[in-house]
Amino acid sequence: MSASERNPNPWKSKALALAGELDEQQARWERNEKRLVRALIRLALAVEGYDSGLDAHLRRLREILRKGILTQERLEEVDRLTETIVRGEARATAIPQWQEVLLNFLMECAPARAERERLERLAEKPLADPRTLHEELRQIFAVRKEGAGVWNRLQQWFGRSGSGESPEEALLRNHLLHLVNEIEIPAVLATRAEHLVGLLSREGDIDAALQETAGLMGALKDHLQKEREEIETFLTQLTHKLQALESQTRDVGDLFQPADPGWNEKLSAQVSSLRQQTLEETDLQTLKAVVTEKLDVITLQLKTFRQVEEKRIQEAEQTIEVMGARLKALEQESDDLRHRLRVANQRALFDALTGLPNRQAVDERLQQELARWRRFGSPCCLLLWDIDHFKRINDRFGHRAGDKALRIVGKIFREGIRKVDFVGRYGGEEFLMLLPGTDQEGALKLAEKLREAVKHCGFNSRGTPVPITVSCGITCIREKDTPQSLFERADQALYQAKRGGRDRCVIAG
Ligand code: GH3
Ligand code: MG
Ligand code: MG
Repeated sequence: MSASERNPNPWKSKALALAGELDEQQARWERNEKRLVRALIRLALAVEGYDSGLDAHLRRLREILRKGILTQERLEEVDRLTETIVRGEARATAIPQWQEVLLNFLMECAPARAERERLERLAEKPLADPRTLHEELRQIFAVRKEGAGVWNRLQQWFGRSGSGESPEEALLRNHLLHLVNEIEIPAVLATRAEHLVGLLSREGDIDAALQETAGLMGALKDHLQKEREEIETFLTQLTHKLQALESQTRDVGDLFQPADPGWNEKLSAQVSSLRQQTLEETDLQTLKAVVTEKLDVITLQLKTFRQVEEKRIQEAEQTIEVMGARLKALEQESDDLRHRLRVANQRALFDALTGLPNRQAVDERLQQELARWRRFGSPCCLLLWDIDHFKRINDRFGHRAGDKALRIVGKIFREGIRKVDFVGRYGGEEFLMLLPGTDQEGALKLAEKLREAVKHCGFNSRGTPVPITVSCGITCIREKDTPQSLFERADQALYQAKRGGRDRCVIAG
């Protein structure tokens, strides 16, 4: 018997067997799916109440799951919902602040000491998991007789449906409103605070209000932190400025040496103590008061210093003015003295009667001409003049006439020579001439001319003609001459002129 004979349609039976298997598998899957769905529903129920934001999603999840067999569409919705729930867990970061507000509120409405103490302890430890907080609170209020009422209302609040407002919510809202109104809100957060006050003034949206309160508190904390940092920066800068001020005041003291020797130490001490106090002081108001007070003292000290210094500068300026005037007077005096000295020197070198250079000036010039002769070698002659019988003029016409005769002879000599020539009164009625660049012949020629001029000058005394004649000894500078040898040779020639009968000029031999 063939297989087809034993089983006339093997494919059909195989298909039936497979269909049976599939049905069984389908039933198994459905059972498993139901179990899974049931487990998910239980899980969703178990976690409901921990976060009001999640509760709505959990309810929706349960609704979908209760519909039974999962279609592709529903599976996608479940997927989306679980995504939302997972994302919603990020909100758990806000829970600690939220918890803080709640615990504060509970402490307000839990007058029993034991409860308060337990709540305080609870507030001290960080509770990241809301379930732990839930359990802790349940235990705290379970020990209280009438706690069940509070707890029930709290439970309602934790997992409430969202309609209406419980008395605890109203109390919490008012409590928060009072809190926000009490807090000093900085200008930058004013709008946000106004928005919160608006939220807290309306009944109903306590969740949003709580979150906004937590947000505002966070922002306030950040603001205060920033302010603290700014104050710290300010204090650091203030300390540096004070340090600079301290060293500046020390420099000022070193530089000016003020009238009050202790001034600098006093000022430095003030600045130093101010710096110390700014470092120690932590309270801003006290710090402000300290800084203001100390700066007032320092300002006053600097003002006093400036006044004293201005007075000193004024006095110094006056002294300088007086000294300047005195210096000017001294300069004038010194100019006068210099002038007088010049006059005196002039007088010392000039003869008062004839106005001609005197003996001293003659000697000096003699030296100079000798030196010049040695340098250039050009001829230079010396003429020694003497008025003849001058004693007789004095005797006959008086001393004044003699003086007048001396002046006239002097004038004739001065006017009769070149600019480069020199004539001086050597003694009583003796005159000495130096003729640089003039040789013996030239000298004699000039001497004769002068002798003639004196002789014919027409001098008279009260209308009486007074004859005046002069004698002259002439010599030229020679090798090895000294002033003395030169003079003596001229004197010899003059002597010969006298002996020869006077009124004549003799060249030295
Ligand atoms: P000799 O011709 O020999 O030179 O004769 P002398 O009279 O000129 O010579 P002496 O030396 O004897 O006399 C010079 C006089 O000149 C004497 C003196 O009183 C006079 N005498 C000198 N200096 C001055 C003066 O400044 N003024 C007047 N008036 N007489 C003077
Ligand atoms: Mg004489
Ligand atoms: Mg004479």
